[in-house]
Amino acid sequence: MRSRLSVSDLHQRFGLSEAARAPLLPTPEPAAIDFDTYVPPEAWPGGERIALLLLRRGPLAADIVSHLREMSAPEPTKSEWFKLIARGYAARRAGRLQLSPQGLRAAEHIMRDLGRKLGLHHTTVTRGSYGQAHSAKCVCGFAAFKPRTDNGFAAAQASAARHLREMGAKQ
Ligand SMILES: [Zn+2]
Repeated sequence: MRSRLSVSDLHQRFGLSEAARAPLLPTPEPAAIDFDTYVPPEAWPGGERIALLLLRRGPLAADIVSHLREMSAPEPTKSEWFKLIARGYAARRAGRLQLSPQGLRAAEHIMRDLGRKLGLHHTTVTRGSYGQAHSAKCVCGFAAFKPRTDNGFAAAQASAARHLREMGAKQ
């Protein structure tokens, strides 16, 4: 059975509001990572990765989650949600469970890894500044750079759109 749960559904279903009220462990500094027990995010159990992506939100995260669910990936368990909090990847802010800076970095890492493995195409067009070109990049590895002229940004947007068309991806 495929379930489509929002983060607030998950809060209810897994008692996360309770978890979020619990005193939080201090978020470990990146330098304090214990490399003997550190597990890179791409090697995390499926449920933990889905939990992280649900908190990350956005079109790429949502696309990856729906692909994982189509492949019958297990939904995050209550203990997997608690683990994200205990390890400092997520914390309660303004009454909601949100990713910490460390959690955001881990989510970006997982999105690059899984986005590529799943063969997804999601482009980002970035406005160049201070000598850097405008760029269009895709999670698959595609990249195009356009000079920082008046119509360079539009050209980068056009490159991204053309790439998605060529790959048959939805825009
Ligand atoms: Zn692509």
